[in-house]
Amino acid sequence: MSLEGKVAIVTGAASGIGKEIAFELARAGAAIAIADLNADGAQAVAAEIAGKGGRALGLAMDVTDEAAVNAGVARVVAELGGVDILVSNAGIQIVNPIEQFAYADWKKMLAIHLDGAFLTTKAVLPHMYGAGADGKSRGGTVIYMGSVHSHLASPLKSAYVTAKHGLLGLSRTLAKEGAKHSVRSHVVCPGFVRTPLVDKQIPEQAKELGISEAEVVSRVMLGNTVDGIFTTVEDVAQTVRFLAEFPSAALTGQSFVVSHGWHMQ
Ligand code: NAD
Repeated sequence: MSLEGKVAIVTGAASGIGKEIAFELARAGAAIAIADLNADGAQAVAAEIAGKGGRALGLAMDVTDEAAVNAGVARVVAELGGVDILVSNAGIQIVNPIEQFAYADWKKMLAIHLDGAFLTTKAVLPHMYGAGADGKSRGGTVIYMGSVHSHLASPLKSAYVTAKHGLLGLSRTLAKEGAKHSVRSHVVCPGFVRTPLVDKQIPEQAKELGISEAEVVSRVMLGNTVDGIFTTVEDVAQTVRFLAEFPSAALTGQSFVVSHGWHMQ
């Protein structure tokens, strides 16, 4: 139980990648706060972890709402005893060419991906920077859910690509600011993972690109992989666990591409 005694907050953990990260960190022994817009989903994941003997708290949280984020983090600290790991994972996808991209959609995308990452980070840092039992900073690890689109662009994804690139800047700044408090920071960058977020895109991309849904899968999503296999939620969750367990700042400020070779850095 490598993360025994640690407390993790995972945003967007009612579904997909975040949900598996919550399960994986719980298997490593951490107490988990599942923070999601979908309150029922968050409670269900918390109940499943508790049913397997873990400690978990389901939280209704809109990561773009500063008051909700601050209240949620305060509740985690009060009920679970602090916070050691933040996985800022909540996200959505909206695809459209730039000239048709509604400004409201652009702002929504940047708010969820970037404001959400900033607000949750800002809320947890005082608890990571604050004194632990030995009088030193408690420290911690912040992991942002980036994407292969943190490193490259695809058509139709202007807001997503912009936001995912932006997370690299936030993470690298935190790596420098947080070092003296033993806080480390990373961006995990998955390739395509079959979650509701990706399933929704397949017909949308087929329509916009004028190709079949099968071609979206075989060409756009898997064409560049080394093995023709989707990245799995387990692939991503195991990477997050590895980074949460890693004991020193030898790894900080990094981005880790988990994509079956779809993108190589
Ligand atoms: P998903 O749709 O399965 O889950 C996303 C979760 O985020 C949902 O539970 C949703 O309720 C929650 N959420 C949305 N808006 C929120 C908000 N404002 N506040 C709190 N919670 C909110 O999606 P997923 O595929 O698991 O994506 C998770 C993360 O992984 C996203 O940041 C996404 O960009 C990233 N990602 C996904 C893929 C992929 O192929 N699926 C690839 C690379 C990166």
